[in-house]
Amino acid sequence: MKDEVSSKASDSPSSFRLSPSSLPSIPHPSAFRVAIVGGGYAGMAAAAELARREIPVTVFETARTLGGRARRVEINGVPLDNGLHILIGAYRETLRLIELTRRPQEAQGLVRLPLELIVHPHFHLRAPRLPAPLHLVAALICARGLDLAGRIKAAAFIASMRRQAFRLGTDSSVEHLLARYRQPPAVTRYLWNPLCVSALNTQPHEASAQIFLYVLRDSFNGVRGDSDLLLPAMNFSALFPERAAAFATLHGGSVRLGVTVEAVRRTAGGFELATQDGRFSHVILAVSPHRLSTLISPHPELAEVNELVQAFSYQPIHSVFLQYPPGSRLPFRMGGIEATYSQWLFDRGRLCGQDGLIGVVISASGAHQDLEQDELARRVRAELSAHFPDLGEPRWHRVIAEKRATFSCSVGLRRPTNRTPISRLYLAGDYTASDYPATLEAAVRSGVACARLVLENN
Ligand SMILES: Cc1cc2nc3c(=O)[nH]c(=O)nc-3n(C[C@H](O)[C@H](O)[C@H](O)COP(=O)(O)OP(=O)(O)OC[C@H]3O[C@@H](n4cnc5c(N)ncnc54)[C@H](O)[C@@H]3O)c2cc1C
Repeated sequence: MKDEVSSKASDSPSSFRLSPSSLPSIPHPSAFRVAIVGGGYAGMAAAAELARREIPVTVFETARTLGGRARRVEINGVPLDNGLHILIGAYRETLRLIELTRRPQEAQGLVRLPLELIVHPHFHLRAPRLPAPLHLVAALICARGLDLAGRIKAAAFIASMRRQAFRLGTDSSVEHLLARYRQPPAVTRYLWNPLCVSALNTQPHEASAQIFLYVLRDSFNGVRGDSDLLLPAMNFSALFPERAAAFATLHGGSVRLGVTVEAVRRTAGGFELATQDGRFSHVILAVSPHRLSTLISPHPELAEVNELVQAFSYQPIHSVFLQYPPGSRLPFRMGGIEATYSQWLFDRGRLCGQDGLIGVVISASGAHQDLEQDELARRVRAELSAHFPDLGEPRWHRVIAEKRATFSCSVGLRRPTNRTPISRLYLAGDYTASDYPATLEAAVRSGVACARLVLENN
């Protein structure tokens, strides 16, 4: 059965922030019939960007919920996400499209906080309200948990990277780069390694130093707000993909849930998908990289792209949700702890009113992968009790293991471009070539880039 996402009767174009009539028009929007395969952040970004220009799109999504790897799931009647995500202030395109598609009366759905990194109980760094990059220098100089030499070395590392515009002649691993710049063990342990693992979802011995530097550049080298943390106050399907679907529908598009596109065939004037939806002038494949081969391998022109994505390896992210009695609180909304398994903790009560619900993120590969889910939850619970004895006993727990959460952001990884050798067939997704690791912003930028290629009609 197919589900359609349609706009509600009360929706009207004027209820959105940006009236389409205020945009320059495309010569013949009716000449475009764009299919978007995949309703994650990349596909829905392409849909919103095209809808903004009055181009009708049809989005096909296998699942019954939009969002892909950032989607709502329901556990024990509680709406959660498949994984605990955060954004940063530098995610400009994601924030722009959330604004574009959100109705004026709706809350944005994000809590913006100044940069604060906590590794309880040893480390605490907080950016003061100073212009960038002084806010970072001051944060490093005042960081609790580093000795004076460590703070100076960390600040000197950033200064050196700034001088070389955050570029390396040759990529290396993050571990190698940090050793080359003689970063002391405490700085590596509490600052750079947690940043590397959370941003690149790849352990420092394997992670690309170049992509890590781009992340530092975009977070710390622009305006102060770029390094702000944006924590979710709503689920990630509602935050953007469902808003984008309503926006696209309002602009003549449609979204088909529960439909898997099995094949894309070329026709004389465009493309035909193995669904019953007729022909399309342009196709944007916005599926996750491990799902791409099925769609592209029948096309010999795409053999090279196929080889690139077949060479990817993947990293997991585990999310452990623990429901403690109402009133149970962490001393922060989001922070890390020094522990074997648990990395970042989210107090969902403080963030989105889910009282007593604590989410724990474990990024990248590690010893936790060898444990049964209940055993992992038991160990995480023990770690939380050791740090915060007042929490008591959780009433229930749930582990969500995303085995292919992201591609491994490894040294020198080659990623395919949005444009393919087949005219009017494009690739969107967090894995396409960019300065970003696999993130929401990478996915959104990639979707927007594909939309622009469609608009240029090439
Ligand atoms: C647990 C977890 C935590 C994360 N944390 C963060 C974070 O804190 N910050 C951050 O920025 N990023 C984070 N990420 C990464 C981020 O979620 C992804 O980079 C982003 O969601 C990828 O979006 P995408 O649109 O490229 O791909 P996807 O989300 O994978 O979307 C692809 C969509 O295509 C659909 N599809 C596949 N094949 C077909 C087909 N044949 N026909 C129709 N539909 C199809 C899929 O069902 C899916 O919905 C996290 C990821 C995970 C898993």
